[in-house]
Amino acid sequence: TTFADLGLSESITKTLSQLGYETPTPIQEQCIPLILKGHDIMGLAQTGTGKTAAFGLPLIENLISVGKKPEPKTCRALILAPTRELANQINANLRSYVRHSHLRVQVVVGGASINIQARNLTPGCDILVATPGRLLDLIERKAVSLNQVKYLVLDEADQMLDLGFIVPLKRIAKMLAVPRTTLLFSATMPKQINDLAGAYLNDPVRVQV
Ligand code: AMP
Repeated sequence: TTFADLGLSESITKTLSQLGYETPTPIQEQCIPLILKGHDIMGLAQTGTGKTAAFGLPLIENLISVGKKPEPKTCRALILAPTRELANQINANLRSYVRHSHLRVQVVVGGASINIQARNLTPGCDILVATPGRLLDLIERKAVSLNQVKYLVLDEADQMLDLGFIVPLKRIAKMLAVPRTTLLFSATMPKQINDLAGAYLNDPVRVQV
């Protein structure tokens, strides 16, 4: 199987070969066609399986094909991660995938200047990667609004719950556009994750690697 077989267009597959991605990983094989078709996903996957590209590539493809520009202080897709390290890593990967497109990716995490982050959000972005606490601070300052968000990704959802992000997560979820696509990834599937999926996912396809 190639990335083109999975339904990704040439603008992305070219970038992938430049990055040295030759064949899709199992989670990518399963997720990419489903996300391109618009399904919600509940993915059981560890770090190192290629899950960032599994959700990132079809998300980018969909955002490019809609061809809409983000409005100021908004984003079209939101990726929530439990830690700064993970958010920064997702941001770095996505930036490498969008480098031949016009899409803008931004990251907001704690421990870095909130003023600079607010400024970076002023023109709007296509994909915003965030940790929940800093995102809520920026929303309170009116630096960003989530009412245009059509894609929500919850990465390492079990970690997010373990770190006590359930209340921030619920506050954030209320602000997003409906209908939207929601993708949840977790290394484990305890009952609380199933409950979260029941509350926020619409008829999700379960994917496991
Ligand atoms: P992740 O599980 O998303 O943290 O990805 C683990 C690492 O594998 C990252 O450094 C990616 O750049 C890399 N990677 C993801 N998918 C592929 C692929 N299909 N071929 C080669 N490397 C990949």
